[in-house]
Amino acid sequence: MIQTLLRQIPKVDDLLKRPEIEILLNTYPRALVLSAVRTGLDVLRKALLDGRSKRISYDDLVMSIQSYLSESRELHLRRVINGTGIIVHTNLGRSQLSTEALNAVREIAGSYSNLEYDLEKGKRGSRYSHVEGLLCELLECESALVVNNNAAAVLLVLSALAAGKEAIVSRGELVEIGGSFRIPDVMQQGGCILREVGTTNRTHLRDYEDAVNEQTGLLLRVHPSNYRVCGFTKRVSLEELAMLSRKSNIPLVEDMGSGLLLDLEPYGLRDEPTVQHSLAAGVDVLSFSGDKLLGGPQAGMIVGKSRYLDLMKTHPLTRALRVDKMTLAALEVTLGHYRDPAEAVKNIGTLRKIAMTSNELEQYADDLRVCLGEAAISADVVPVLSQVGGGALPTQELPSYAVAVDIPSFSPNQIEARLRCARPPIIGRIVKDRYILDLRTLEREEFPTIQQQLAALVAEGA
Ligand SMILES: *Cc1c(COP(=O)(O)O)cnc(C)c1O
Repeated sequence: MIQTLLRQIPKVDDLLKRPEIEILLNTYPRALVLSAVRTGLDVLRKALLDGRSKRISYDDLVMSIQSYLSESRELHLRRVINGTGIIVHTNLGRSQLSTEALNAVREIAGSYSNLEYDLEKGKRGSRYSHVEGLLCELLECESALVVNNNAAAVLLVLSALAAGKEAIVSRGELVEIGGSFRIPDVMQQGGCILREVGTTNRTHLRDYEDAVNEQTGLLLRVHPSNYRVCGFTKRVSLEELAMLSRKSNIPLVEDMGSGLLLDLEPYGLRDEPTVQHSLAAGVDVLSFSGDKLLGGPQAGMIVGKSRYLDLMKTHPLTRALRVDKMTLAALEVTLGHYRDPAEAVKNIGTLRKIAMTSNELEQYADDLRVCLGEAAISADVVPVLSQVGGGALPTQELPSYAVAVDIPSFSPNQIEARLRCARPPIIGRIVKDRYILDLRTLEREEFPTIQQQLAALVAEGA
């Protein structure tokens, strides 16, 4: 029986002669059609073999071939609507660039530029010159270097300052950021010998002092981005470490994780130190991300004293970790916004979303509820908590508002799955057994799409 069915599966060559497939051959390259036909036949064969399909439908086969082909035209990397409320969502691409930064990327990526050309001298210049001045101006530091991301920045700092030497770090700061970035592993990769001091919860100045010897290359401070140690704890202040660093003539290096340049206290977020604070406390070399709280493109900033930065600028790794021109274009504009803090909060999406007040969010959520109501979708405005994300401020949440949506004949999990696969995908979450979209990360322009997608589900369920 199954053998008879399998024998009835059309042959590739016969299919290619059928009028429906011939039309496709006029639209798509032959190799693509051939591959879609083969995929269609494979899927059909498997469905017959494991009993999911009991017969061969020529129309279904053609339809599946057509859909493979139209899918193959879609880009794999695509925009999504973020309804999670997590502002710096690493899985969803972290920060969104400002309009001005996007325009700069467009212009620089689509034309020739003075990327490595000194226009005044008419000869070779340095790609690192474009944002160094701006970083030094904003942070009042001697020198700056930008590489591919903060992981690269940490690797370069350790390689340039402490290869073959010991790097002293507290046991409370042996961080794993997620995935494969673990401080001890990066140190090993940078050729340093990890010299752990103190304990998980308590490290004293004397622990650092006792560990310093002629093999010491640097003192390392790592920001506990995505965790907090609480209870009976002790962490040495940056000022104390800076004193030890000066006394022993060993550089003090800090991996700050997120590059926060503005105090977030006015927005209710405490305990996330700014880059300026660390530099003022006496850190010699500091690294941070471009696309976390800074709100710019993926990049790794290294700032601090020239005598150390010069070693990095000439290090062979720098070429391998170098930053792209699109990144530099976006970064220059993003950093420029920080010349005026009010401009920064207005233009940089990450900061704007952090700064949104609870009242604004409640009104905004009500606007979405009304918009959904116009399409007969039942929704309520509910209070929720949003997270900053991106390995920053792990213990603090921002009060926000969401719409909770109910659709007859769909469970919250089903709504979540269907919207996740919509075009464009809408990413929401389930809170107290209801599907919710947090307004903190939504844009008003996205309301009509959300309305359409949910209305389609309502219609399907009716
Ligand atoms: C996020 C983070 C990193 C990695 O930064 P990327 O820009 O993602 O490479 C390194 N160290 C700390 C402490 C971090 O929080």
